[in-house]
Amino acid sequence: REKQRLLVVANRLPVSATRKGESSWALELSAGGLVSALLGVRQFETRWIGWPGVNVQDDKGQKSLSSALEEKGFIPVFLDEETVDQYYNGYCNNVLWPLFHYIGLQQEDRLAATRSLQSQFSAYKRANRLFAEVVLSQYQDGDVVWCHDYHLMFLPKFLKEANSRMKLGWFLHTPFPSSEIYRTLPLRSELLKAVLTADLIGFHTYDYARHFVSACTRILGLEGTPEGVEDQGKLTRVAAALETDMVRSHIQKLRGRFAGRKVMLGVDRLDMIKGIPQKLLAFEKFLEESPEWQDKVLLVQIAVPTRTDVHEYQRLTSQVHEIVGRINGRFGTLGTVPIHHLDRSLEFHELCALYAITDVLLVTSLRDGMNLVSYEYVACQNTKKGVLILSEFAGAAQSLGAGAILINPWNISEVAASIEDALTMKEVERKERHRHNFMHVTTHTAQVWADTFVSELNDTIVEAELRT
Ligand code: UDP
Repeated sequence: REKQRLLVVANRLPVSATRKGESSWALELSAGGLVSALLGVRQFETRWIGWPGVNVQDDKGQKSLSSALEEKGFIPVFLDEETVDQYYNGYCNNVLWPLFHYIGLQQEDRLAATRSLQSQFSAYKRANRLFAEVVLSQYQDGDVVWCHDYHLMFLPKFLKEANSRMKLGWFLHTPFPSSEIYRTLPLRSELLKAVLTADLIGFHTYDYARHFVSACTRILGLEGTPEGVEDQGKLTRVAAALETDMVRSHIQKLRGRFAGRKVMLGVDRLDMIKGIPQKLLAFEKFLEESPEWQDKVLLVQIAVPTRTDVHEYQRLTSQVHEIVGRINGRFGTLGTVPIHHLDRSLEFHELCALYAITDVLLVTSLRDGMNLVSYEYVACQNTKKGVLILSEFAGAAQSLGAGAILINPWNISEVAASIEDALTMKEVERKERHRHNFMHVTTHTAQVWADTFVSELNDTIVEAELRT
């Protein structure tokens, strides 16, 4: 019997496309967490639907790109530049994203956002409709459709209107904020109602699901609870990589380079939500209070550039550079500096090697849907049994709390004290903490997460039929 088909719909296809000629394209796959998760769902034939990330106006270009993508099981949704600007940069990244991460805008920016809200919201709906049209053109009876993230909150509604029997799930990869925050959104009800048409709605943590339910109760006056799943598990594509020769040789090299010093690590997109300045200030305080550590510890901070054309992100970059410069100036010697700061991403094997040799991982997110980096670190630490310092505002704190040292990133003194605790922790305790986390990470892999969501979705259709 033929495999059931799974249509995965997300804003971006996991690929970057570069045009090489009128009808020729170079494709480069980008294997994020979602891709590796879904590779494990083998009982389905998976197809991806999303924006290819390039602006293609002409018919020839669209046709040739579509057929190049088709071979990989990818189906493009073409968006024009105006729509991308209003829908993606505007409503998604300027309205929903900050709201879901509790980021306040400056008063001026907030007013400007309020003015352009209607046109951005229309573009958001328009874009969601375009996604819906492509999904409907691909859909066959019996397919399962899985929509992803805050970009596509209207998609379930548009799809259900066209076909009420479609099996439809939606998963949010960011936090869902407290209803006190959510209710400031001008078009709050429309969005909630649209999402509620899905048969299954998923969040990373129980808290996010609870926030969503209370938003529905308070704003829509609904009594019942939506079908949500609590799921904390995501990803471990890194553990296997440790066995490869390439990673092994990197590990050797890094060990040599950092010999004699404890290594602390931060791996974040250079984003407001990650609390990088707070992390640096805490490290500075620690060095100040513990002079004996000054030449014995090193913080490696990988700060992956993101949204570099946005003013606030540029401001954050200079702020971080300034703090790093100050700390290195204060505590550096002729031979060493306490912070190695990189404004770029690493190759996957370099990152794995770095995880493996690190003594303490420092995650200070002010808000973070999940934080995969903390999972990856635990997965790579079975030999070393390093310590995870983890913000209580990362979704991962709900699942790795037993093994990590949990901190409030706004409390610099507390974080500084935790750094000291982590660096001096006895092996027995490190082993015990690591055991907890390792067990969680290896049983809640991305594959298990995707598998569970999709099979629950398959099962909920009975209920959905009863409801209508
Ligand atoms: N990552 C990477 N190369 C880098 C830095 C990070 O591939 O140089 C990956 C990392 O392995 C992780 C992801 O980027 O899978 C970051 O995910 P996370 O959930 O921690 O944060 P997000 O960026 O999604 O907010």
